[in-house]
Amino acid sequence: MLNLEKSAAAFAEAKELMPGGVNSPVRSYKSVDCNPPFIDHALGDKIYDIDGNEYIDYVGSWGPMVVGHAHPKVVKALQEAATRGTSYGAPTCIESDLAKLVMEVYPSIETIRMVNSGTEATMSALRLARGYTGREKIVKFIGCYHGHSDSLLVNAGSGMATFGVPSSPGVTKGTAQDTISVPYNDEEAITKVMEEVGDEVAAVIVEPVAGNMGLVLPKQGYLKKLRDLTEKHGALLIFDEVMCGFRASLGGAQAAYGITPDLTCLGKIIGGGLPVAAYGGRKDIMAKVSPSGPVYQAGTLSGNPLAMTAGLATLQIITAEPEYGKADYSRELTLKTKKLLLGWQEKAKAAGVAIQAHQAGSMFGIFFSEKDVLNYEDSCNADQEKFKVWFKAMLEQGIYLAPSQFETLFMSGAHTDEDIDRTIAAAEKAFAAVAA
Ligand code: PLP
Repeated sequence: MLNLEKSAAAFAEAKELMPGGVNSPVRSYKSVDCNPPFIDHALGDKIYDIDGNEYIDYVGSWGPMVVGHAHPKVVKALQEAATRGTSYGAPTCIESDLAKLVMEVYPSIETIRMVNSGTEATMSALRLARGYTGREKIVKFIGCYHGHSDSLLVNAGSGMATFGVPSSPGVTKGTAQDTISVPYNDEEAITKVMEEVGDEVAAVIVEPVAGNMGLVLPKQGYLKKLRDLTEKHGALLIFDEVMCGFRASLGGAQAAYGITPDLTCLGKIIGGGLPVAAYGGRKDIMAKVSPSGPVYQAGTLSGNPLAMTAGLATLQIITAEPEYGKADYSRELTLKTKKLLLGWQEKAKAAGVAIQAHQAGSMFGIFFSEKDVLNYEDSCNADQEKFKVWFKAMLEQGIYLAPSQFETLFMSGAHTDEDIDRTIAAAEKAFAAVAA
C-alpha cells in the first residue's frame, strides 16, 4: 500500500491556505477521491513525492516536460541565465532566438508575441481576431479548453469537465452570449452555425487535436472543413496548439493534418517548464497588435529571460539532438507512445475490459468505452468509475497518470523501454482490478 502520510498532512495544511489546497483545480485529485501526492522533486522520467515514493511520470507537468524533468542542458542554460539577472522588462536577443526557432517549425507563424500562459495566448488571439475583423462573436467547440478567460469558459473541457461546471459563475451573460459552442467533429453543426451567423463571427477557435475531453482526434477532413468555412465567411481560424503543439508532430497538428490556420496559440513546451506561451500567425493580422497596431496586449514578465532560456533550450533539444543519434526526436516519442498503447490494449483485451486507445504523436489516452470517442458527449459516456479504479491501481504501482479521464497523457524523451515495460505490466494488474 502506497504510503502518502506526509502528503496527506501537507494537503490538510494547504487546504487551510488555498482554495481546495491547490493553485489549479485538477491537482486536488477531487475527481478520483484520494489525496494528491505532494511533490518533492522530479528527474528525467521520474517524479518523487515527499513520502519518498517514486513514480514514472506521464503527466509531465500537463505537457511541457517533453525532454524529461531537469534535463541537464535546460538546467545548465537556466543556471547561466539566472546569474545575469532574472527579469529586465526590456528587449533581449534571446526573445528573437526563440521566435526564430518557433517560426522555423511553424511556418504559418510570420510574427509572434510571447506571453506568460496559454490562457493569455488564447485570450489575446481572440481580442486580436475581434479587433482585426471588427466582429464580436466567436465559435468554440464543446469540450475544448482554451484556458480560463471569460469568453472561453463556456462548455470547456479539462477541469471544467472534471468538475462538471458547464460554464463558470462569474462569467457574465453578455460575455457568454458572444461565444457560440458547437459539438466537436460534427461538420453539419458547424456548417449550420456558420451559415446562420458566419458573417458576425470573428474567429473559430479549436484544439485541432483535442486534449481536454481526454484525447479526441479530429475526423478525416474535419479541420479542412473548418478552414473552408472560415475562409468562406471571412472569419479567422485559430488553432489552439497550446497542448498539441510540438506533440501531435514537431510542427503540431497543423503540420500533421496539413492545414494552415490564420493564428496559432502555443504554450507548455515552448517554455520548457517555465511560464511561457505565445500567439502568432499572419503578418497582416499580427500587425494590428500594439505597439504596431491598435489592439492592446502587454505583460510585465512577457519574454522573461529565464523563461525564454528554458524554452529555447528545450526546443533546441527536440529540433536537433545529434548526440542522441536521433534523426527525429518527435518520431522517437511517437514510436514509444505506440508501444505503450499497444501494450495497454493487449492487457485490456486479455482482462476483458473494453477501452478506446487514442494517440497523437506523444499524446495518448484511453477511455473505458465500448464505442469510439469522437466528442465531449462520447467522452462523458465513458465509464468514469472504471477510470477511478484504474487510476488508483496504477498510482499504487508507481505510475503517475492524470487524475481525470478528461485529461491527456504525455511521453517524454526521458522515458525508457524499461519504463514502458513496467507501465504495461502495471496496466495488466490495473485492468484486472477494473474487471474484478
Ligand atoms: N489551451 C489548451 C489547449 C490547453 O490545454 C490549456 C491548458 O491546459 C490552455 C489553453 C491554457 O493554458 P494555461 O494553463 O497555461 O493558461
